Amino acid sequence: METSQPILSVVVPMYDEEDVLPIFFARMRPLLDGLGVSYEVLVVDDGSRDATAALLTEATRQWRQLRLVRLLRNSGHQAALSAGFRRARGEYLVTIDADLQDPPEVIADLLSAARDKDVDVVYGVRSDRSSDTWAKRTTARMYYRLMCRLVGKDIPFDAGDFRLVSRRVVDAVNALPEDGRVFRLVIPWLGFPSAEVSYVRAERAAGVTKYNVSKMLRLAFDSVTAFSAAPLRLATWLGLLGGLLSVVFVIGALVTKLTGQSIPGWTSTVLAVAVIGAIQLLCLGLLGEYVARLFQSSQKRPQFLVGYDSLEDPGHHSYAEVTEPRDPEHR
Ligand code: UDP
Ligand code: MG
Repeated sequence: METSQPILSVVVPMYDEEDVLPIFFARMRPLLDGLGVSYEVLVVDDGSRDATAALLTEATRQWRQLRLVRLLRNSGHQAALSAGFRRARGEYLVTIDADLQDPPEVIADLLSAARDKDVDVVYGVRSDRSSDTWAKRTTARMYYRLMCRLVGKDIPFDAGDFRLVSRRVVDAVNALPEDGRVFRLVIPWLGFPSAEVSYVRAERAAGVTKYNVSKMLRLAFDSVTAFSAAPLRLATWLGLLGGLLSVVFVIGALVTKLTGQSIPGWTSTVLAVAVIGAIQLLCLGLLGEYVARLFQSSQKRPQFLVGYDSLEDPGHHSYAEVTEPRDPEHR
């Protein structure tokens, strides 16, 4: 491992990626070696339960620039990225998925775009998502539409978490006090000068997706509640609408009563109870999302805990001379 600051840090969150690892090494290493800049590959093992950690530990012995940071337990993709942001030392930081859906060859383009155009952020933008399933594409499109409105800035469509940022951005992100940050929203929101590089997204090289439906929903909820209180106002609007409707109902009921046509109103009662009940529960749930967010941030629990960092491992032969400690991520 380089003991001085590398130019480039490639941060790769991994959760149960043993299937993809051999392909990952074979493709990544020649490419980064050929870039002509000093680099570190910082793999954040997000509490994998399979052989990922063992394979990585083994690989750090053969690949000097490979650095392993292991989280104590599965903390989620965004938390793993946070860990990478805290620990990376490079002047530029690229985040990329382990599954090689984002072609690592594009890293060279990201880097040269950042240097040539002198920008702090370069987004990798998918020009073609035909390798994703229909459901994934549709939910992704809905997600990006909504997010553009909420963040109130142009967030590049179809930019996932494949991007390059400069040290300035890394420091700015690390200085944000918020927990549960969603990188693909926070980084455009910061507003540093940016550029885009488009690429074609490939199929997952091996293994299956580690983003199940509940993780996807979590990301969506975090994204909305981090940027907007609009859902809370939904309750107000629904309440107003309900109020208006009830005025109409009251008038209607009085008219039928006065004209002597009143019939036992079983249907309307049940309907009203069901609709209003549903609206109330929905609003309560929305409120709950924000209260939960406040609650979690007031607990001030770290989003992740690092169990191991090969850079700080005194038993690891290549790191003997490293002395400079990094900032701890516990606040
Ligand atoms: N990942 C992670 N922690 C998780 C889930 C996913 O670190 O809890 C990593 C995963 O190993 C991969 C990246 O996040 O490197 C993106 O996940 P995946 O490719 O499964 O998502 P998809 O491309 O299907 O949206
Ligand atoms: Mg993937």
